[in-house]
Amino acid sequence: MDALMDAAVMHGPGDVRFERVPIPTCPEGGFVLKVEAVGLCGSDIRNLSTDSRKGDYPFIYGHEVVGCVHEVAPGVDGVAMGERLYIYPEAHCLRCENCRSGRSNQCTDVDSYVKRPGGFAEYISYTATRLERGAMYHVPESVDPVRASLAEPLSSTYACVENIDVCLGDTVAILGAGPIGVNLAILSKMRGASKVIVADVNGDRLDRLGPFGVDEVVDGSMCDVVDTILLLTHSRGVDKAISANPSTTSQQQILEITRAGGTAVFFGGVPRGSTAELDTNLIHYKSLWVYGHYGATSIQVQRAFELALDPKYPAESIVSHVLPLARINEAIELTRSGEALKVVLKPTLKEG
Ligand SMILES: [Zn+2]
Ligand SMILES: [Zn+2]
Repeated sequence: MDALMDAAVMHGPGDVRFERVPIPTCPEGGFVLKVEAVGLCGSDIRNLSTDSRKGDYPFIYGHEVVGCVHEVAPGVDGVAMGERLYIYPEAHCLRCENCRSGRSNQCTDVDSYVKRPGGFAEYISYTATRLERGAMYHVPESVDPVRASLAEPLSSTYACVENIDVCLGDTVAILGAGPIGVNLAILSKMRGASKVIVADVNGDRLDRLGPFGVDEVVDGSMCDVVDTILLLTHSRGVDKAISANPSTTSQQQILEITRAGGTAVFFGGVPRGSTAELDTNLIHYKSLWVYGHYGATSIQVQRAFELALDPKYPAESIVSHVLPLARINEAIELTRSGEALKVVLKPTLKEG
């Protein structure tokens, strides 16, 4: 009989069970990682609670993975036994037209994490393709694996503020105070923005913004977000406005609060199939730049990883809960309600 491990297995929408499953076998030319820390991402919650795999269950999600090399296939020399690695979930081919044009976040031959079982488990395996393509980074012994796991959610936000060139003196509005909104705020301040405004409809999330240098907080459950942000900018609007939540309402709001000639960013994905009603005259008459952001290029992934390890990145303030993997369903609820900012799960942490 195969050796067994603990895993959080999705059996259907909203049906996640902590159970014993076989440890993955080491693929030819690949390796197996013992998972030390795995972040719970907003996209995981969406995938776990909807029919994300169109009936193809059971499946193990989990893509913000840091762990130690547990097994290496014969003849493989790219990784060492016991070495701690952060693995970016998508390995870009670096050969397709998008990759060669500097848009590897749009790789047309990506080795995507949803094709293979993920990291909500004690062990995860990687194939030879992953070793060929890289997007795996050595994590020094001195670095907490929980901190290193934040490199993944940091990467897309890092890429966004770089691509829209948030710079010295900018006023930036971010609609959404989840981990993505918080990262966008931290990075905007690091890049020299003079005023960062964060809005959310959840007061619990806004209460947690203290350590991140946010200049203005707007509680959308108490006031009109658009009116308030226009007031805060003396009716000028902000240089850059970012929709960082899954609502189409925010997508309209950022068009209203962006100054003439400014940049409105559609960062947060919305539920599949939903369409937004937008006043496109705002784009036209204000000469707005509208930018849709997704992912990070391979070099941005690397730079975000380096920043995540840097003590100036406030990882400890972002991670509100470190929980055993067994408590994944509780972690989902804590994140949904806004009680948790960021939960990182540890399969090695046992209950009791
Ligand atoms: Zn993620
Ligand atoms: Zn490619």
